[in-house]
Amino acid sequence: MPGSVNTHDVIISGGGVVGASLACTLADAGLRIALIDTREPVTDWPADSIDQRVYAVTCASQTLFERLGVWEGIRQRGVSPYQAMEVWDAAGPGRIHFDAAELGEPWLGHIVEQRVIQAALLDGQRARPGLERICPGVLADFQLDPAGVSVRLEDGRELTAALLVGADGAGSRVRELAGIGIETHDYEQTAVVAVVATDRPHAGTAWQRFLPTGPLAFLPLRDGRCSIVWSTTPEEAERLLALPEDEFCIELGQAFDYELGAITRVNARGGFPLRRLHAVDYVQQRLALVGDAAHVIHPLAGQGVNLGLLDVAALAEVVADTAAAGRDIGAHANLRRYERWRRGENALMQSAMDGFKWLFASPLTPVRLLRNLGLGTVDRLTPVKSLLARHAMGRAGDLPRLVRPDS
Ligand SMILES: Cc1cc2nc3c(=O)[nH]c(=O)nc-3n(C[C@H](O)[C@H](O)[C@H](O)COP(=O)(O)OP(=O)(O)OC[C@H]3O[C@@H](n4cnc5c(N)ncnc54)[C@H](O)[C@@H]3O)c2cc1C
Repeated sequence: MPGSVNTHDVIISGGGVVGASLACTLADAGLRIALIDTREPVTDWPADSIDQRVYAVTCASQTLFERLGVWEGIRQRGVSPYQAMEVWDAAGPGRIHFDAAELGEPWLGHIVEQRVIQAALLDGQRARPGLERICPGVLADFQLDPAGVSVRLEDGRELTAALLVGADGAGSRVRELAGIGIETHDYEQTAVVAVVATDRPHAGTAWQRFLPTGPLAFLPLRDGRCSIVWSTTPEEAERLLALPEDEFCIELGQAFDYELGAITRVNARGGFPLRRLHAVDYVQQRLALVGDAAHVIHPLAGQGVNLGLLDVAALAEVVADTAAAGRDIGAHANLRRYERWRRGENALMQSAMDGFKWLFASPLTPVRLLRNLGLGTVDRLTPVKSLLARHAMGRAGDLPRLVRPDS
């Protein structure tokens, strides 16, 4: 704050997509920011390669990136817009189809590689003089003092600020040091991810087939291939990861019911154990958590990073309003508004994902009949379908100013 004795106004630990976006947003509000991360993002890669980690970026997240001036850098590096989404059940005829044109939108979202967003955000950070990047740097410890919060890095450097934000991912050191508890649930599933080539074109559609063992998603990539997220039991995932390439392609084709024909190629595969996690508190005196440090959800609806970006927009709005009113941005009473705003919304999304997972995993005949009936009915009920689609696009709910399309 003006006249403050602290080295910075806000220290952010964690420069993933969420932390880096928050750093740019708060720097735009005129605050002095320190962004710490253990590593620099990758900025160079072979033109024909695709990162294993891709995100389905919602329209709300795109709006945030546009307001930060980084969307053009993301777009130029390569994005894949998808105009349709197709969801169906392996155990019955139920099917639902979402179409951007039906909603009067050009697309439902974009599939973007994580490294593409990080590289564009790095340009955004470098263009903001009020933002100091400390990479590599590792937050080791912090303590509260009368003027603010003091942060010590592993190499001995010390920084002080009015507010410390933990954007340091699911295993958040900030959350742990603050003694904030978590509610957690092991899904007993592992997501197998890979980039695959298919016989037929993906047609700009995000595909999801619900199998009894978990959902299998095919996300359309800019080079015509698809990124798959195949959630299944840990034992099955271990087996799939160890299969020779040709056998993996055959099993994947069968599991996807040859919706895009045969699978002709697969690159390196990776496995991610899945769990739900929710921090009991999002804020304390001089401290806030955002993104995966606060909540981790099942990837079946591709919402994880998008929820984190809604946290960013909400926290930035609260901090900017508090600073503009000349009040303390680190005071617990002021930060509570952010917690009240986001914790309920994130809990709702977590419950919805758990509900879907249960519904589609259930072998009980009545549940199976109901979900098939449900998918078919929703597909015909335009208002319900449109509401579902607007939620998936991040266009519904109590949206912060920064992501509202009209503000
Ligand atoms: C298989 C799979 C598929 C997914 N697909 C999607 C999708 O389609 N769409 C979507 O929205 N989400 C998706 N997600 C979720 C998404 O990956 C996460 O929600 C997102 O990466 C969280 O971003 P973050 O910036 O909060 O955390 P992270 O990406 O985990 O970043 C944390 C950062 O903090 C740094 N850090 C950690 N500790 C320290 C420390 N002590 N000091 C300094 N820095 C530190 C790390 O280096 C890292 O850069 C998927 C997840 C999985 C597992």
